Amino acid sequence: MAAPKNLRIALAGNPNSGKTSIFNSMTGARQQVGNWPGVTVEKKTGSFTYNGYEIEVVDLPGTYSLTAYSVEERVARAYLVEEKPDVVIHVVDSGNLARNLYLTVQLLELGVDLVVDLNMWDEFAACGSELDRDRLATLIGAPVVPTVGHREIGIDDLLDATIRLFEERVKGHRHVPISYGSHVDDVLNELTDLLEGSQELIGSYPPRWAAIKLLEGDIEITKLLSSDDDRARRIREAAERAARHIEVATKSDPEKVISEGRYGYIEGALKEVLTEETADRMELSRRLDRVFTNRYLGYPIFLAFVWILFQLTFRVGAYPMEWIETFVGWLSTTLAAVLPESMLSSLIVDGVIGGVGSVIVFLPNIMTLFLAIAFLEDSGYMARAAFLMDRVMHALGLHGKSFIPLLVGFGCSVPAIMATRTLESKRDRTLTTLIVPLMSCSARLPVYLLIAGTFFAERAGTVVFVVYVTGIVAAILVGRLFSKTLFRSAPAPFVMELPPYRLPTAKGLAIHTWERSKIYLQKMGGVILVASIILWFLGAFPQNTALTEEYEAEMDALRAVGTEEVLGRIQELEIEAEAAQIESSYIGRAGKAVYPVVRPLGFTWEMGVSLVTGFVAKEVVVSTLGVLYHTRVDGESERSLSDALRDPARGITPLAGFAFMIFVLLYTPCVVAVVAVKREVGTGWMLFSVFYQLVLAWLVSFGVYQIGQLVGLG
Ligand code: GDP
Ligand code: MG
Repeated sequence: MAAPKNLRIALAGNPNSGKTSIFNSMTGARQQVGNWPGVTVEKKTGSFTYNGYEIEVVDLPGTYSLTAYSVEERVARAYLVEEKPDVVIHVVDSGNLARNLYLTVQLLELGVDLVVDLNMWDEFAACGSELDRDRLATLIGAPVVPTVGHREIGIDDLLDATIRLFEERVKGHRHVPISYGSHVDDVLNELTDLLEGSQELIGSYPPRWAAIKLLEGDIEITKLLSSDDDRARRIREAAERAARHIEVATKSDPEKVISEGRYGYIEGALKEVLTEETADRMELSRRLDRVFTNRYLGYPIFLAFVWILFQLTFRVGAYPMEWIETFVGWLSTTLAAVLPESMLSSLIVDGVIGGVGSVIVFLPNIMTLFLAIAFLEDSGYMARAAFLMDRVMHALGLHGKSFIPLLVGFGCSVPAIMATRTLESKRDRTLTTLIVPLMSCSARLPVYLLIAGTFFAERAGTVVFVVYVTGIVAAILVGRLFSKTLFRSAPAPFVMELPPYRLPTAKGLAIHTWERSKIYLQKMGGVILVASIILWFLGAFPQNTALTEEYEAEMDALRAVGTEEVLGRIQELEIEAEAAQIESSYIGRAGKAVYPVVRPLGFTWEMGVSLVTGFVAKEVVVSTLGVLYHTRVDGESERSLSDALRDPARGITPLAGFAFMIFVLLYTPCVVAVVAVKREVGTGWMLFSVFYQLVLAWLVSFGVYQIGQLVGLG
């Protein structure tokens, strides 16, 4: 067999045209996700073999144009010019040809070897319009292939056309220049000739394209020609003359004339090949929008969706959660019974399974939430929600686009912080990242459930609701404060893309949900596993041998008696011994060290320790309390943790319990989230965010506890 030939392709296209769907259909799981160098724009690459070719494909950022105005455009353009992929596939939304072909035209001008992918062909076919594809291919001089990206239809045809183009290119491929009218064309040709003679000045840019860009006033090309070099000066002068000529002849500026020329070309082409049916998809969307983004109806509908979202998350998630809980419980009792009693078995059962197990039970909740969010995103509704929330978000010094990360934050801060990448300005990204952790993530919920269940019985639901609302109010106040002080500039203006509504596909939803859940799983496999082991060591050492032996002796004595009554006493002693060990361990010491700090909030030292360990993951707060209060948090003995907390001797009042929930809500998120903050906005902001949340949590809890006492609540 012949050695595989290499082929590098790039996918270009407007946002939401289906590039990523095509990319996924081509590569399956063989993809890498990273960032483009120097910017926080996601870069997806993948490779696969097809028909004897080893194909490498890259998913370029979505752009409408190839100017140098936005990061996405600069990234896409630099890749095309510098990396020179063998073939560029332009993924086009067939339902929106006029707008999409604007980019096609620019790609043709750039001189890339182009295949036009008429994606969303299913929708185009359904709307009743007709397109003469062969004619279109002839007109623009590029093969045209219909596909349905998210259903993997037409992908092979697309690849066949790509390979054919690649192989035929050697025989001379036709590039169609666009005419911008005689005024522009004349000066353009002159300028192109000049640039052709000075290729080294413009690097790998094709001369005609550089000439057009020069007339458009493109920043990057202008910069390339800004040197003192004689020829550069001559070209600059020629460009200025040409621009003046166009201005005089057309009474309009060159940039505008050129873009009109492109639209004119598209109009002309479409007139020849497209027979349009007027009842298009956008029309249906417009009708739906009249309800969903209605000034009065929009909000209640939106609230209803959010309510359903949370109901689903907690109701539906509860079933698999129970199964996992049962399984983890079974695993630890089985292992405890099988393994000989030793340090190692304690490390495995108490440390690893106890730690990771208490976290993994939330996976169903989180996956359900992510699935629901993916549904809202893929259907197009999320963009409408962001649009509606725009006004509300302005109160925080942000705009509607920041709303999506904040909503994801109710599931898990980590993917939420990563979702801030869709925001264009650094200011908006930083500010959003700072307040995302105030959206109560699902890892904090077990703490609320425990404390509210213990102290507020029937009113627990309402109390938990109040805690969530407190987080939202805190986010609004903090956002306002920061945007008035640290981020004085106004949020970047933006256009919220409102893609047409469509029914999400199972595959798209699965990929979306999985991508986010994966982050959560990785967190468990990595940080939480390591942290659980470290925590276990800190709780097991230094060993208080003298005390342990004393307990052992007493238990042995009782075992010798062996009657029914003493068995209970032995169990009590076991738990007491464990608690005594923890109290004298490193964790116990740390907890006592932070005690003075948390005492004014009404917390016990055990609660102080659990807050320290909660930095690893908020779920760990509950398991730490379980250990410190001499109760294992497994199944039936959960009640006894509540009893222990309620025990008057401990002195925890319902008021202190509430202050504790507020503290857990507001203080520093888990270490994984902190790492995510660092990655997105840098070490400085990461330290700031840790610090401000600690201070905020302490102050608010202090206020709640002290004022509560003053008015006689505690
Ligand atoms: P990108 O922004 O260009 O990467 O677009 P995506 O691949 O994320 O697709 C945007 C949306 O369009 C998703 O909801 C896809 O499921 C959907 N989609 C992609 N290709 C098609 C298609 O051929 N037909 C239809 N009806 N929907 C599609
Ligand atoms: Mg994409």
